[in-house]
Amino acid sequence: MRQAYTAMQVGRSGMLERVERDVPRPGFGEVLIEVEACGVCGADAVDIEKAAAAGMARVPGHEVVGRIVALGAGNPSIWKVGQRVGVGRLGGYCNECSQCRQGRFQLCQNQPVVGASCDGGYAGMMLARGTGLVAIPDELLAEEAAPILCAGIATFNALKKCGAEAGDLVAVLGIGGLGHMALQYARRMGFKVVAIGRGADIAEDALALGAHAYIDNRWEDAAARLKSMGGAQAIVTMIAHVPTIAPLLSALAPWGRLVVLNPGTEPLPVSLGLLVGAERSIIGSITGSPYDNEKTLNFSVLASVRPRIEILPLEQANEAVRKVKSGEARFRMVLTMNGQPRL
Ligand SMILES: [Zn+2]
Ligand SMILES: [Zn+2]
Repeated sequence: MRQAYTAMQVGRSGMLERVERDVPRPGFGEVLIEVEACGVCGADAVDIEKAAAAGMARVPGHEVVGRIVALGAGNPSIWKVGQRVGVGRLGGYCNECSQCRQGRFQLCQNQPVVGASCDGGYAGMMLARGTGLVAIPDELLAEEAAPILCAGIATFNALKKCGAEAGDLVAVLGIGGLGHMALQYARRMGFKVVAIGRGADIAEDALALGAHAYIDNRWEDAAARLKSMGGAQAIVTMIAHVPTIAPLLSALAPWGRLVVLNPGTEPLPVSLGLLVGAERSIIGSITGSPYDNEKTLNFSVLASVRPRIEILPLEQANEAVRKVKSGEARFRMVLTMNGQPRL
């Protein structure tokens, strides 16, 4: 095995710096992964800022696909050396806390947040908890599978929880890295899909990705348009921008749900009468467990859902993060370790 590997770690300036690190040995319950590809999520920019402020040489990245090269003791027997696996945002549950004992592994309070509280996949190698691993179907390239591990599962699970049934109107708010996955899933799940974005330039993409209709939120009154269509059974928001979300609540149909999957800090003003009068609700949705992630990957294969990606080599991680932050990415950036796509 190699003695050293390349990693892009957060420097004090807030930029990522290329370093060589010694290859670690996996501890109890851990595996060592040789990384093939890692997606760049909007959350990575926040992770980088926080690590820089704390003076922590963190390696970001939580859409990781690679192969197991070494197994520590105490791992689930389903994992083997050479197997292709992924790691998402949630880094592996503890199996002991009260949430785990109730089977709500995604809510485990003792699990690392990959790229934030432990090192992630902007690197040639990565240590991961065995309980956090996801099996990758053979049909997916590493570069295609990577964004599904966060952007894919976050949107697929939110749509599954949105309460809408086949034929119901579901609005997807925010058409970027997450939204472009949500549109594909929503269409294939049988909903009437309305994309809400900013600008006319993405209308064509939104329709090609699966939307039946596109609303340009900069020029149109999105709530009025949704109401004219009979109201939305669900609005799934990719964005946390409260001034954009709040006016849309009135466009929820009776029993309609607003599903929030992007954490923000701003409070959301909501008329309580709006909730009570027609039994509307607002729910949060976290990405999901490794099992949920495998279901998302398998559904993506079954229904031909793929992220639209731009690939850059690991060394250009700063450029990839910049493109995600500026909104230039169409729609997801993926870093590869050898510069070549591979299965
Ligand atoms: Zn993410
Ligand atoms: Zn737990």
